[in-house]
Amino acid sequence: LGRIEETEPKLNAYITVEAEKALEKAKIADKELEKLSEDEMPELFGIPLSIKDNINVEGMRMTCASKILENFISPFDATVIKRLRERGAIFVGKNNLDEFAMGSSTETSYFGVTKNPWDLERVPGGSSGGSAAAVSARSALASLGSDTGGSIRQPASFCGVVGLKPTYGRVSRYGLTAFASSLDQIGPITKTVEDAAYLMNIISGQDAKDATSARIPVPDFLENLDNDIKGLKAGLPKEYFVEGIEPEVKKKVLEAVKVLESLGVEVVEISLPNTKYAVETYYIIAPAEASSNLGRFDGVRYTYRAKDYEGLVDMYCKTRAEGFGDEVKRRIMIGTYTLSAGYYDAYYLKAQKVRTLIYQGFENAFKDVDFIVTPVSPTTAFKIGEKTDDPIKMYLSDIFTIAVNLAGLPAISLPCGFDSKNLPVGVQLIGKAFDEPTILNVANVLE
Ligand code: GLN
Repeated sequence: LGRIEETEPKLNAYITVEAEKALEKAKIADKELEKLSEDEMPELFGIPLSIKDNINVEGMRMTCASKILENFISPFDATVIKRLRERGAIFVGKNNLDEFAMGSSTETSYFGVTKNPWDLERVPGGSSGGSAAAVSARSALASLGSDTGGSIRQPASFCGVVGLKPTYGRVSRYGLTAFASSLDQIGPITKTVEDAAYLMNIISGQDAKDATSARIPVPDFLENLDNDIKGLKAGLPKEYFVEGIEPEVKKKVLEAVKVLESLGVEVVEISLPNTKYAVETYYIIAPAEASSNLGRFDGVRYTYRAKDYEGLVDMYCKTRAEGFGDEVKRRIMIGTYTLSAGYYDAYYLKAQKVRTLIYQGFENAFKDVDFIVTPVSPTTAFKIGEKTDDPIKMYLSDIFTIAVNLAGLPAISLPCGFDSKNLPVGVQLIGKAFDEPTILNVANVLE
């Protein structure tokens, strides 16, 4: 809490901090501590965590960084929160994000931009920018983020911390505010790979409240972290090392690849030819799902309602016009358009077909390799304001992360050095579906 007080005036990584409540819980835990033997102590006993502000924590405000939910208090715990709470975790606050997780820089938040702890003139990445900045600045021990098209991995990379997007279906989405339901996953943002594995052990697993959570046994993610990686085969997709990538980013990632080779990993070039369509495909599918999911914010069910209106339709229109920011409106308009009669086949259906091709590309590659290595983002953290006027430029910063969501695969982002401006560079390891243990193992050894 002291560290939050110290860093928040500079960073703005939190939307809500509940210091008193957290202290009270810590005091109770402290008393219980004397009575418990080590065996009886839950895994996260008294451990403070911060949570991205699009995940419900009972009794805490959840804003999704939007005016439309400014005063919304969550009436329930998301499944991941319930599981962490049962293990003794204490939730100290909620981290800033792009409004409704739509963005790559945390600049679209109604509560102001979060700054990158490595350079306060730069963005922390997004949309889980508050989580990544807080973990990086040590004003959070660990945080949970959400990743629809890179929102855990890209900010982790910009802030020099670890971020894991689990396989689609590995972690329950119940209680995560839906953005694009077929892409969203909750995952850890941590200082170390081991911490990520630790949290994964707790948050993973089938949940009756999320029909898309998979009925697949959860391995012990901590068990194989130190395995010898000699003999594993890594794929280097040639399409990920061309166009637009900063030479320094490429250099650092290839240095990490060299380290893998020195540890006995066989590295081969592979091709993921449909990757070049990933951004376009994503920006049809994600807004389509978002336009439908955000229909619920209508001024009736949640907190914000326009003051002056004439009749119900006018109330809907004014509430949404006043409550949503520009990027959210842009997504709703794109999504509504691509789902309209007459355009559905040309855009939405076509995008779903390309999505299948992207998935098949990965499936093909994985016949030959155990995991895939790529950069996380083509650049390191960019300047605040640098891309706000050009949505396409902003969308392109997710070019290396988005295909993974379309294919539903697990991927981890971890630091692999600094560029000449002393900004962190990240490397991404992509795994086969439900094979988080391999990428965690490789990441841990590489770390
Ligand atoms: N930057 C992407 C977007 O704006 C991804 C966001 C996310 O993963 N939540 O949609």
